[in-house]
Amino acid sequence: MTDTPIHPDEAVRLVLEAVPRAMTEEVPLADALGRALPEPLPALVDQPPFDKSAMDGFAHGPAATSAEAGPWRVVELLAAGSAPTRTLGPRECSRIMTGAPLPPGASGVQRVEWTRTDSDGTALVLFERSETASNVILRGENQRAGDTLLGPRLLEPQDIGILASSGYARVRVARRPIVGVVSTGDEIVEPGKPLGPASIYDSNGPQLAAQARMAGCEVRSYGIHRDDETALRDVLGRAHDECDVILVSGGVSMGDFDHVPKALAAVGFACVFHGLAMRPGKPTFFGRSGKKTAFGLPGNPVSTFVNFEVLVRVHLFARMGLSYFPRTVRARLAEPLARKGFDRVEFLPARLETAKEGMLVRPLRYHGSSMLAILAEADCILRMEPGAERVGQGEVVDARLLRS
Ligand code: AMP
Ligand code: MG
Repeated sequence: MTDTPIHPDEAVRLVLEAVPRAMTEEVPLADALGRALPEPLPALVDQPPFDKSAMDGFAHGPAATSAEAGPWRVVELLAAGSAPTRTLGPRECSRIMTGAPLPPGASGVQRVEWTRTDSDGTALVLFERSETASNVILRGENQRAGDTLLGPRLLEPQDIGILASSGYARVRVARRPIVGVVSTGDEIVEPGKPLGPASIYDSNGPQLAAQARMAGCEVRSYGIHRDDETALRDVLGRAHDECDVILVSGGVSMGDFDHVPKALAAVGFACVFHGLAMRPGKPTFFGRSGKKTAFGLPGNPVSTFVNFEVLVRVHLFARMGLSYFPRTVRARLAEPLARKGFDRVEFLPARLETAKEGMLVRPLRYHGSSMLAILAEADCILRMEPGAERVGQGEVVDARLLRS
């Protein structure tokens, strides 16, 4: 437990330290999209599984690369899916379609465009030009059974295709962490209900739920709760029992009604840190109770979003046996930047632009919780180290990509 604000890199180390071993379960391939693959998987078959033709044409023996070496007698028709029955002899060839297995005795395929079939049907064929390529893909040329098929990752559609191509009908994936989402604040109203004179809609709850879901977790939403320690203890106690990770937004600062850290402590979460040398996200709380963890995130919706990106996602990934590396690009500042929080690590929503001089990044100014809409414009988050109060136009900065 610390009272001095800690560096966000140290916070990442601490949230990773709190991660228990990932549990796994087997799911049908059809349900594996978006799930975490914690261990590399081997290819189950050679790719391709047999020598096959890459062209529609004629499979032929070694002598047939020369245009003069014909005519050739066609002994068989090989469609994709049909197994050859004939071994090719001298001056024999098989009509072959893309994807069909190469017949024994064949060393190459002459593409159909460069052949002429004689007048009495398909029995004889002339090769009009020499092929330099064999137009054959050999068994195991792309991949051998036992090679690594996929490394650890969150499974995307192309990964599902790769698994299917190797014959996987079921996959062992990490169990989804159960993430409880709790919104707090007397002013917070559920979308769909009328707004009072001093109220705002709950955007953090739905946003955090969506972020956790996109990260491959199962989400339980606990709704909106008043700034009242007893009420908070009640809902956080339930969430503690039912979830692996709790994400609470609001009520973690030093205000008179910020009861979340006390309520989290009361239901069993020992404080690991409360206060980060980062902007936004200064009052962020993180606690542990056995294998369970709780994040108290500041209520400002931009802050909640950024804190999830910086601290929570890496924790959730680690719970599924994955390392999370944000995709980061280096870009030049499109305009000078006067920083407010230059004594801390600062994360700023920004937009990438392509210009003649390369990639530029334009910080998007926001102030307060009403500025959530700025995230509609943002496609990256700038990370600025403590130090310079002013950063000049054209300086190179790190931008963490947001949208896919
Ligand atoms: P707090 O962290 O509770 O001091 O809240 C900081 C700011 O974020 C205040 O302006 C709150 O109204 C706003 N806020 C808190 N919770 C939410 C929420 N669930 N959705 C949208 N804004 C919120
Ligand atoms: Mg509040």
